[in-house]
Amino acid sequence: MTQPTSQRSPGDKLQFLAMKFHVLVGCLTLGLLTACAVPMTDHAVEPAELGTLSDRGAMIQSLGKPGVVEFEKIVAARWVAPRSGFIDLESEAALSTDLEDVDENLTIFFYVLRHPEHGTFLIDAGIPDDFENLAGFFIRKFFLEQVPFEVVKKTGDWMSETGEKPAGVFLTHMHFDHISGLADLDSSTPIYLGQKEAHNAHWSHIIFKGTNEAVLDGFGALREWSFGEGEDQSADAVIDILGDGSIWAIPASGHTPGSIAYLVNSANGAHLIIGDAAHTRIGWEENIPQFGGPDISIPAQASVVRLKDLVNSAGQIEVHLGHQLTASQAMSSIDSQRRPRQSNIIE
Ligand SMILES: [Zn+2]
Repeated sequence: MTQPTSQRSPGDKLQFLAMKFHVLVGCLTLGLLTACAVPMTDHAVEPAELGTLSDRGAMIQSLGKPGVVEFEKIVAARWVAPRSGFIDLESEAALSTDLEDVDENLTIFFYVLRHPEHGTFLIDAGIPDDFENLAGFFIRKFFLEQVPFEVVKKTGDWMSETGEKPAGVFLTHMHFDHISGLADLDSSTPIYLGQKEAHNAHWSHIIFKGTNEAVLDGFGALREWSFGEGEDQSADAVIDILGDGSIWAIPASGHTPGSIAYLVNSANGAHLIIGDAAHTRIGWEENIPQFGGPDISIPAQASVVRLKDLVNSAGQIEVHLGHQLTASQAMSSIDSQRRPRQSNIIE
């Protein structure tokens, strides 16, 4: 039974005061963090001029038409980091399979889409020439100085080698490993991203904001995909980006509030780029959930379930995870080292 305050021993009183102190510190910290909420960037945004609002049914049906887009996956960089940073090892699914916290080999990818009429587009932007200087304090301190990191192909080098000038970049989300290569592009290049991705505010965005501002310096307003607002937004809403069923934007909130997946009907089949909805092979293939994103009202795993449902209902879609190859891609990549090159993964 709880003692009335007046009858507490000196020890109880000290414990009671300590508890009050902890509650006070907890409240102050929470208040401070809430007050310190920052957006991913202060950069201007405007509605995307590209794209027609459509639905999943029409998107799946469009895959029946022969694809016209040439698709390439490019390795920009590699790093190594503990598995516990990417999946929730305390989740029921992880505990039931006895997963250990081993190091994961991770890759930063970007994707090139060559459309015969509309030009070349990128999905995500890779790593820029001047990454070490562009990286803000937090990225240098907590990433570059902490983990083995090796640049394989800078975005600027890819541009000079191919002579290509992207007509636009479609971002999966605004983390540095997906957007920093923008710094190598001409600042007139239009940049597209999910609605509320740029300006949603959370204290953890302080890690990314400095780098984002440096990378976006000189670019015009970011162009947001709009899937509708609130109750007007259908759960099946998707955007037919070029109006011909070749490239689609799909809401995939969770990792970040405005995360987007892209479906490409290419000349060599359908490709689904899911950004960091699932970073790792084990997360996607073994259904081990990631941590929730900054908006805890959006369960990160719900988007994975929706994307898997799309893959199951459409059939014959090759999935591209945030930072690893799927098991079958890894296998064919080993095969391609033994045989004459057939893979569409360029390093
Ligand atoms: Zn990432």
